[in-house]
Amino acid sequence: MCGFHTHKADNPRSPGRAMREIVIAGGGISGVYLAYKLAAALDDVKIYLVDPKPYHEFVMGIPMAFAGILRFEDLKMSFDSLKRVEHIRDEVVDVKESGLKLASGGVIKGDYQVLAVGAFKIGDDFYSVEGAEAFYKAVETATTVRFIVDELHPVIGFGELATAIKTLWPQKEVSIHLVYVHPDYKWLFDSFSAVYAKYGIVVTEEPPPAGNKGEVHVVVPELNMHPLAKGLKVGALFETQYDRTYLIGDSSLIKLGLPPIGWGAIWQASVLAQAIVSEIKEGVADVEVDEWTYMKDPDKFKQYFTYRMTKGVPLVQLRGLYELWRTQIFGAL
Ligand SMILES: Cc1cc2nc3c(=O)[nH]c(=O)nc-3n(C[C@H](O)[C@H](O)[C@H](O)COP(=O)(O)OP(=O)(O)OC[C@H]3O[C@@H](n4cnc5c(N)ncnc54)[C@H](O)[C@@H]3O)c2cc1C
Repeated sequence: MCGFHTHKADNPRSPGRAMREIVIAGGGISGVYLAYKLAAALDDVKIYLVDPKPYHEFVMGIPMAFAGILRFEDLKMSFDSLKRVEHIRDEVVDVKESGLKLASGGVIKGDYQVLAVGAFKIGDDFYSVEGAEAFYKAVETATTVRFIVDELHPVIGFGELATAIKTLWPQKEVSIHLVYVHPDYKWLFDSFSAVYAKYGIVVTEEPPPAGNKGEVHVVVPELNMHPLAKGLKVGALFETQYDRTYLIGDSSLIKLGLPPIGWGAIWQASVLAQAIVSEIKEGVADVEVDEWTYMKDPDKFKQYFTYRMTKGVPLVQLRGLYELWRTQIFGAL
């Protein structure tokens, strides 16, 4: 195993070489999806997944747990069940040419390093499974729930939570206060307006009135660059300035001027997997360009997401998506 000491890989650009080692830091949405794509395409690969938590959190399913479609605990998937991937319970604390430095003191390096560490969140916690469950308990007894959005990059999902609350408890007043959102990101929320109106959720740009008894005010958390991502450059294939070291997921999307959302993280994982697999198999990184994988056209990206968000089935109703993730994506690892 290459973990916990400095490992010198052979040149991954030599096709035909045996076993490759890939280190993924972060077992969230993008890290798990990348591991899945790599494991599905490569027989001779050893994948290490470094994450300080003992379980993967399927955070996109939190609105489903809110709506009672799933239990909160169903969203935690233990890394102990992994067979094709080795979980290293540790935290990456620095990125260097020599590899990823771990909190436990060692350095881990494979043929490829991928940072999929998400973003740093500041605000009320509905983005972790535990935080969301505590928030659910507060909402149960509230008469009114107000979501306040006043930051550059809010954590997405509050609209889905508002929809779930209004569906479960139609008598509760639910409002979203879009006081400020970065202009590059606002289109995403504007595209939801008709959906919110349909559910009877008030959307306004005014801050909420002072809270009365029975009201829950939620400061929608801000997504900030992960400390590890701060000094990294990100290129067209999400490569950083360090050899065969990549950054995908929320922090990468922010750097690229794209909305930090799960579908974007999955898209990046999918593009990067194509590049790594083709480089290992054929010696050159080859990525098929389709209408929305072409990085240099953010408008296409926006069109795709606007379509998905406005025409797609609200995620809160997609139990099938959760089952697919649990059995065929996480379950395949
Ligand atoms: C309630 C909610 C609903 C959402 N709904 C949607 C939706 O409907 N559609 C959509 O597109 N997006 C949605 N999102 C957003 C989506 O979940 C995120 O964009 C996505 O999870 C980002 O993936 P990621 O892999 O970048 O980070 P994350 O999923 O946050 O994973 C990061 C992982 O990295 C680990 N980590 C952190 N630091 C380190 C370190 N130093 N070393 C090692 N590991 C580390 C963490 O423990 C974590 O496991 C929602 C988010 C929330 C909170």
